[in-house]
Amino acid sequence: MEEKKILGITDELLEKCVRCGSCRQVCPVFNVTHEEPSVARGKIFLADMVNKGKVKLNKEIAGFFNLCTTCLRCAEICPVMVDYERIIISARAFAAKEVGLSPEKKAAIKLFSNRELLETVGKLTAPLTKLFTKNSKSPGNRLLPVKLPKLGKVLIPQIKPKPFNSKDKIFPAKGEEKGKVLFFTGCMFNNFYTETAENTVKVLNALGYTVFVPREQYCCGAPAFFAGDLETFSKMKEKNLRGFANTEVDFCITACATCGHVLKKEYSELPFPVKELIEVLFENLEEIGKWKYPEKLKVTWHHPCHIVRGQKIPRSYPVDVLKVLQKVEFVPMEEADNCCGMGGSFKLSHPQISREIQLKKARNTDKTGADAVLTECPGCVMNIAEGLERIDSRVKSLHISDLLAKCLE
Ligand code: SF4
Ligand code: SF4
Repeated sequence: MEEKKILGITDELLEKCVRCGSCRQVCPVFNVTHEEPSVARGKIFLADMVNKGKVKLNKEIAGFFNLCTTCLRCAEICPVMVDYERIIISARAFAAKEVGLSPEKKAAIKLFSNRELLETVGKLTAPLTKLFTKNSKSPGNRLLPVKLPKLGKVLIPQIKPKPFNSKDKIFPAKGEEKGKVLFFTGCMFNNFYTETAENTVKVLNALGYTVFVPREQYCCGAPAFFAGDLETFSKMKEKNLRGFANTEVDFCITACATCGHVLKKEYSELPFPVKELIEVLFENLEEIGKWKYPEKLKVTWHHPCHIVRGQKIPRSYPVDVLKVLQKVEFVPMEEADNCCGMGGSFKLSHPQISREIQLKKARNTDKTGADAVLTECPGCVMNIAEGLERIDSRVKSLHISDLLAKCLE
């Protein structure tokens, strides 16, 4: 077996790239910057040089490794199937050790990896957020009342004063029980979108699943993993695995694309299989076909990167689900699978590039003439809601659980 070098990966992995440049056509970051280090080819070249010891890693090169939303569009189009995610995470892990993490990444990891801290911040900031922000057109989101220079309207994530999983909870299935599932709520549902968490449970109960929400669960570790802080990621993973050790369920469900991607790929030791909500909805098309939205509604769909490329879930699943719903009309969006620009802490570290990607997504959404854009990732919901506000669109951004729960009222 070939020896692993400086980045902890083999030269073979890096030399697989044939420098064809196909990734330039699809990279959302390159599309904004038009600079070679923004695209996979440029980063792989730099990683290869560092791995072979031909170039010494410095802050500038580390910065290029971070100039990426990890949307995986490059990996999908690559004719030789370069394992881009492995390369970029290894490069970032080395960079984190050698030159350290940026202050915004450090702060995000500190907050998300400490459940008690996140809950305390929620308790302290919730009244202030309510006082100093206003409602967005997309329900459940708050905006600063003034526009910021260069950025325009800014959406403020609301940390709820009480987490969704404040204690162990069991929600029994409606009617005959099809199975028992563990809802991996992750930090976005536990601490930010608690109403969407409730709606996800309602939907699963209506489909015949008893839902268990354990208190003993933590952030999946994605913020640390994608930043290259693999030590913190391992600690988060261990805590979750310990919490789930004696849990007997048919499967675990996530309604966040990134949690699903990370659990499926990095948590092979879990004692149960993992399913993304959209997979369960697709398995229950017949039942969902009986559901009716209270009024006529035109909707479109945004494909989260970590569902279609991270987990390789077919793009047809959400479309089929939306098409069977009564009173709901589905209209397709141009480049529905392009990144929304969030990319975890990418939005914090590269606000201007992230904004350009976000605005493109918002314009494509607005062009559909839909009343709402749906998706299955709280991060995407939040970022698209902000983009739509920035272009003064009438379209609302919603999680699919919020739409489905309305059909059950
Ligand atoms: S598409 Fe693949 S092989 Fe081609 S330049 Fe990009 S990473 Fe390299
Ligand atoms: S993961 Fe996305 S943003 Fe990063 S290099 Fe590939 S296409 Fe570009």
